[in-house]
Amino acid sequence: MINLRKEKCLEIKLARREAGLSQSEVAAEVGCKQSALSMFEAGDPTKLNDEVVEKLARKFNISLEDPSPVKTENLSKEVVITGEKGFCPNPDCPSNRRYQVGGQLFLEPDRSVADPVGGKFCVKCGEVLEKRCPNCGAPLHDGAVCSFCGKSYVAV
Ligand SMILES: [Zn+2]
Ligand SMILES: [Zn+2]
Repeated sequence: MINLRKEKCLEIKLARREAGLSQSEVAAEVGCKQSALSMFEAGDPTKLNDEVVEKLARKFNISLEDPSPVKTENLSKEVVITGEKGFCPNPDCPSNRRYQVGGQLFLEPDRSVADPVGGKFCVKCGEVLEKRCPNCGAPLHDGAVCSFCGKSYVAV
C-alpha cells in the first residue's frame, strides 16, 4: 500500500485539470471508477489501489516520493489548500483588498469575489485569473502571501 499524503492527491487532481482531462476519461484510462478517482482527488488515497495510483503518477509525471517531508508537514497544519478558485492578479481590481502593515501596502485577493464559480476571467475586471502562485506555481490558499515561496500573490 502506497502511503500518500492528501497533497499528492491534490497534485494529481491539478495535473489532470491542467491537462484538460475529465475524471471519467482518466478513470477509464487507468482502470478505476470515476467515483473512486473523485474521492481519491478529494484527499482519500485509500480509494485507489497501488497499481492505479502508479499509473496516474506516471501519466502526469508526478513523483510519489515526498521531496521535502518536513516542509509539507508544516504546510498541512498552517495552510488550508482550497485549490479550486483563482485570484485576480490586477492590483487595481476591486476584488483585491488593500491593507497596510508597518507602512507597507499589501493586497489580499478575495478569491470568491474575483472567481465565484471557478472561471477563467475575473468577474470584476475581466483579467485572466491566476490559478496557481505566479511566483512558484504552488496551489493557492487564502491570504495575501504565498506560504510556499513567501511572495505576495498580487504585486503592489
Ligand atoms: Zn479583477
Ligand atoms: Zn509561491
